[in-house]
Amino acid sequence: MQGDAYLKCVNPKCGLEYPISSTNVQCDNGHVLDVKYKNKPPTKLKETFYERRNSKGSIFNESGIWRFRELLNFCQIDTESIEECSKFLVSLDGAEGRQSKPYKMSKAAEFLGRNTEGLWLQPEGYNPSGSFKDNGMVTAVTHAKMVGAKKIVCASTGILQHQLECLQQMKELIVMCIFLQDKLHLENLVKHINLELKLYK
Ligand SMILES: [Zn+2]
Repeated sequence: MQGDAYLKCVNPKCGLEYPISSTNVQCDNGHVLDVKYKNKPPTKLKETFYERRNSKGSIFNESGIWRFRELLNFCQIDTESIEECSKFLVSLDGAEGRQSKPYKMSKAAEFLGRNTEGLWLQPEGYNPSGSFKDNGMVTAVTHAKMVGAKKIVCASTGILQHQLECLQQMKELIVMCIFLQDKLHLENLVKHINLELKLYK
């Protein structure tokens, strides 16, 4: 899968492309970039994802994100090796998204007058922080690690401690700027990790 991922401007009239290793967050015309893949993932991956339900001790197979790592393959990971995955992928010990499963909401669909087979909702409250942020944070920090970022700036209204567990894997690199309203949260964060913090109200 090497060479499969790249960055592309989301503006269809522009469409500038950059290597996946680029640290650009915008194209040269100031538009947002998205990760794209040259090839579609093979359908046989469904079998791989199913097999990984037996994690065999790999946190990356337990993870509700990295179990499907070929679909989020901006690191171009194509291996079952835990050691190899560990070099690139950041994880909350495999807990991110692990318990999140979609539920068929047939009664809600009926109430809405929709197809009762077609409405599925996935609660994200089973993440370690009780927030969907865990899923985004492990992927965001993995990407930051990949491009050799020295700092991560994160805007938040509060609970980030669990996400910080994953950030600790990069603690020597990270200076983090957090937007909090609650000073107590800020003090807790300082205990956990050496961060540069800024408080905004
Ligand atoms: Zn553009």
